[in-house]
Amino acid sequence: MPLAEAVTLALARAGLHVEVDAPLGRRVSWRVGGPADGLVLAHDTAALQAVQRVAAAHALPVLPLGAGSNLLVADAGVRGLVVPLGGALADTEVEDDVVVAGAGLRLVALLARASRAGWAGLEGLAGIPGTVGGAVRMNAGTSLGEVGDRLLWVEIVHRGGAVERLEAGALGLAYRTCHLPPGAIVARAALRTDGDAERSAVAMRDFLARRKATQPLDQPSCGSTFRNPPGDAAGRLIEAAGLKGLSVGGAQVSPKHANFLVNTGGATARDLASLVAEVQARVFAHAGVWLHPEVEVVGDWGPEGCPISLSAPRPG
Ligand SMILES: Cc1cc2nc3c(=O)[nH]c(=O)nc-3n(C[C@H](O)[C@H](O)[C@H](O)COP(=O)(O)OP(=O)(O)OC[C@H]3O[C@@H](n4cnc5c(N)ncnc54)[C@H](O)[C@@H]3O)c2cc1C
Repeated sequence: MPLAEAVTLALARAGLHVEVDAPLGRRVSWRVGGPADGLVLAHDTAALQAVQRVAAAHALPVLPLGAGSNLLVADAGVRGLVVPLGGALADTEVEDDVVVAGAGLRLVALLARASRAGWAGLEGLAGIPGTVGGAVRMNAGTSLGEVGDRLLWVEIVHRGGAVERLEAGALGLAYRTCHLPPGAIVARAALRTDGDAERSAVAMRDFLARRKATQPLDQPSCGSTFRNPPGDAAGRLIEAAGLKGLSVGGAQVSPKHANFLVNTGGATARDLASLVAEVQARVFAHAGVWLHPEVEVVGDWGPEGCPISLSAPRPG
């Protein structure tokens, strides 16, 4: 849908350029999905405030975009504004053993800086191809730890443009869960970096080698598609239901790791969503467990809607 000229003008007055009808497929790790009505890079907190102010004034939805490594974007794209962060919002500052990282910074870049500077304790972020903002939003983590173990506070920009600092304790952090205020965008996050840097580096090296051996990292995916249900592993349940290799169009349950749904080339967002729904139904029929997606489904799925369901079918 075309953006109203008044929106483009208001953003231009704030010094911001909007790319209209901006393709998103190349910005997300599944490599599917249609365009954003408008894409605006926020290069500092003031720019993010301006985007939030203009969007609120024109009743436009805003989707903050990190590395797109946990997003299923609809084939028809995303209405409103999509906002990646960069510039000063991808920088780091250090105060004693606390690193304050811009939300647009890639975790791999954060870990590279950590390794050069001898900061420890961030090993739980190794191998996660997201940004700091996306990692906070998802409380991303691995068997070595998660964001919530290290997070002290976040600076957010509310819809409307107000800036607020929230302590980590206010975010309801739990397994892949973080309750940000509705419409808020993380601008910066403060992480504790104490600990033994040498031990941290060894743990990350071993962990990354194990991942490479067990995950299809050479194919487009969103990592683990489903959350692990309490006391079990989604991958184990999918494999036990005999679904490795199951395909819909160009989307496939990876033969290497059953919780990875991969784009074998030419998949559409609807292929992936249909495969997610098929896996949910078949695992439920086989084991009586409803798998909840870990990936975030966004965009315009049209009158049919997205086939993925967030809850199990009601009996009868
Ligand atoms: C190969 C592979 C391996 C993976 N392994 C892991 C793993 O081990 N552990 C794990 O937890 N995840 C893993 N993931 C999933 C993904 O990398 C994480 O969920 C990551 O935190 C997403 O970050 P992102 O920047 O890509 O966010 P995006 O995918 O861009 O966005 C995800 C959500 O965060 C929101 N968001 C993004 N930035 C902000 C911001 N600044 N403020 C507010 N909201 C924001 C988006 O709007 C969206 O709702 C993996 C993915 C891949 C492809």
